[in-house]
Amino acid sequence: MYKPKYALFFDNHTQQCCTNVGHGFNAENFADDIQRIGADLVGFHAKCNQGFCYYDTKIGNRHPSLQKGHDLFGDVFNALSKRNIKVCAYFNCGLSNEDGVMHPEWCKVTPDDKIFHKYVLDSDITPYLRIMCINSPYRDYLLSLIREVKEKYPVAGFLLDSFNAFPCVCKHCVEGMRKLGMDPKDPEDQAKFAQLSDERLAKDISEIVQPRRDGLMMFCLGLSPRDNLKYGSYLECECLPTVPCWGYDWLPAKSRYFRTLTQNNESILNMTGRFYNWGDFGSLRTDAAIEYDLFFGLANGMRPNIGDHFIPDGTYYRGIVNSLSRIYGKLKQYDPWFDDAKNPVDMAVVLPEMTVNETSKAVIRMLSELNMQFDLIDSENDWSKYDLLVLPDYVNVDDVIREKLAVHFKKGGKIIATGTSGLDVDGTHFVFEKEWGVSFKAEKTFNPCYFCMTENYKDVTPELPLTPNADCIEAEALPGTIEAAKLVAPYYDKGFDGIYSCFYTPPAAPTELPFITMTKQVAYCSGKLFSGYFKAASVELRSLFKMMIDHLLAEPMLLTGEKFPSFARAFVSEQPSRKMVHLLNYIPELRGEMLIVEEALEAYNIPVKLRLDGQKVKKVYSCPDREEIDFVIDGNYVTFTVPYFKGYSMTAVEFE
Ligand SMILES: [Zn+2]
Repeated sequence: MYKPKYALFFDNHTQQCCTNVGHGFNAENFADDIQRIGADLVGFHAKCNQGFCYYDTKIGNRHPSLQKGHDLFGDVFNALSKRNIKVCAYFNCGLSNEDGVMHPEWCKVTPDDKIFHKYVLDSDITPYLRIMCINSPYRDYLLSLIREVKEKYPVAGFLLDSFNAFPCVCKHCVEGMRKLGMDPKDPEDQAKFAQLSDERLAKDISEIVQPRRDGLMMFCLGLSPRDNLKYGSYLECECLPTVPCWGYDWLPAKSRYFRTLTQNNESILNMTGRFYNWGDFGSLRTDAAIEYDLFFGLANGMRPNIGDHFIPDGTYYRGIVNSLSRIYGKLKQYDPWFDDAKNPVDMAVVLPEMTVNETSKAVIRMLSELNMQFDLIDSENDWSKYDLLVLPDYVNVDDVIREKLAVHFKKGGKIIATGTSGLDVDGTHFVFEKEWGVSFKAEKTFNPCYFCMTENYKDVTPELPLTPNADCIEAEALPGTIEAAKLVAPYYDKGFDGIYSCFYTPPAAPTELPFITMTKQVAYCSGKLFSGYFKAASVELRSLFKMMIDHLLAEPMLLTGEKFPSFARAFVSEQPSRKMVHLLNYIPELRGEMLIVEEALEAYNIPVKLRLDGQKVKKVYSCPDREEIDFVIDGNYVTFTVPYFKGYSMTAVEFE
């Protein structure tokens, strides 16, 4: 199977009113530009979300303005193939407006009896499009197009879009639900059936594409990563961080999750964009902004993919070619150290249903700000490779988790838990009460809660009652459990009694209720620490989290000094006989409505300590110039200083 190194993707959803698709297009010039940029894989449209085909089809709707006999996709494919650049064929599966116009009976019907779907009609991305029902005859039509492309062009793979799993109550879906004993009027069954339908389509496409047998890339956007690895052959993280539905918290989550799933070393692509949003032709993000996304991915085992737009007549603007050439030229210098590198970690965060929500965003940010090396895992992952697990805010213990935790405790594993994590699914008691070191009393305490550190921990936060900005449960410490912080009650709870408002609620009396407890294996916070950090980003909450980590993890893999800013990011990767330390110094700033990265930031004399785990250091050097750096062995760590970098720095530590 082809393993791409530098990919480009051209969006090309061209309306029927466009009169010159492919007119005057010079595929050789276009391919020269791709070669200049340094890409080795190009994603190009075979069929767009408007329902038009750009290849030589006998079945589908060619774009009406393609000249007779013009095979736009084929021209691009041939010109790129001559230059040894691979092509992935893009199909929009879920959206196909022209087919919906010609065959309204192929469209999804929403449960409130509409063809236009509210999620799409007003969407920031691809509004006003008809959504196709993949249980209607559209299904066979779509499959025949995919088969046609596979037979006609020796492409490297298929990128299949818009597996959106929107519920449909057309006659085909209603009959399908009835056959499975589902209730077509029940919203839960409608949603479940839509999921099953998407999965069934992926399976059928997989039988045509045969990605594993024929060594083809195949990925379905919208389908879960596990299903993608089952029916497809690689993973792709689509993330335009400037669009609110993704943002700058998406890639940090997906990168740490996807790499736990690719057991057979499947490729993971990191798709960003040169613009702010799909359909935004007139923007070019700064080099620093695009670099930040791509270095982040590379340092975490993902190969770069830059999203762009194909202009109907094939014009490729110099400004874009120049920018992308500069960016890929810069990244390529580091390839020897990125190739097949893996990311060793100290811990994993458990999110039973892996979702990017307030809690996961906050826990990822806090761990990143503390330079911790970690994975994200769900209930299905193998937990046994991790010594330390973080169960943030809401991880109640069901049967699956109970079994995994029992194994984890038995081997001496450690847990950091917050909020209701550790309670049974009904929230009535701690399932591993002895290990947790606390017993459950009540669901709620005060509104608002405050906390104070106990004597031995008074230096962790400033001396005043602070708020976790979150609800706390009422618990009681068991004998022998360390109580590092206790709750402080307010004068009265917030509220309105019908006449008087209680809005100003100062802290009053300290209580005996524990806020943070620690045992040999568990550090527990009775408040939803991460939800609180998401609301107010209070650095004291991060200090508490660090204290809990310090209690259970004596020697973190990577330490940087205070001079390393909290917004900067640090990663460790490894190849046989060497480890790489990646430092990223960029900051997304909210300017008006847009989060932008304008420039790479400079940093000087950053001290780094990397845990050795018994390995003997041969040399330390900066990449890609291989300039040696002085180092000192300090116990189980090698310490060195990164003298200067701007934006991104990679240092390699080679072992004997
Ligand atoms: Zn349907």
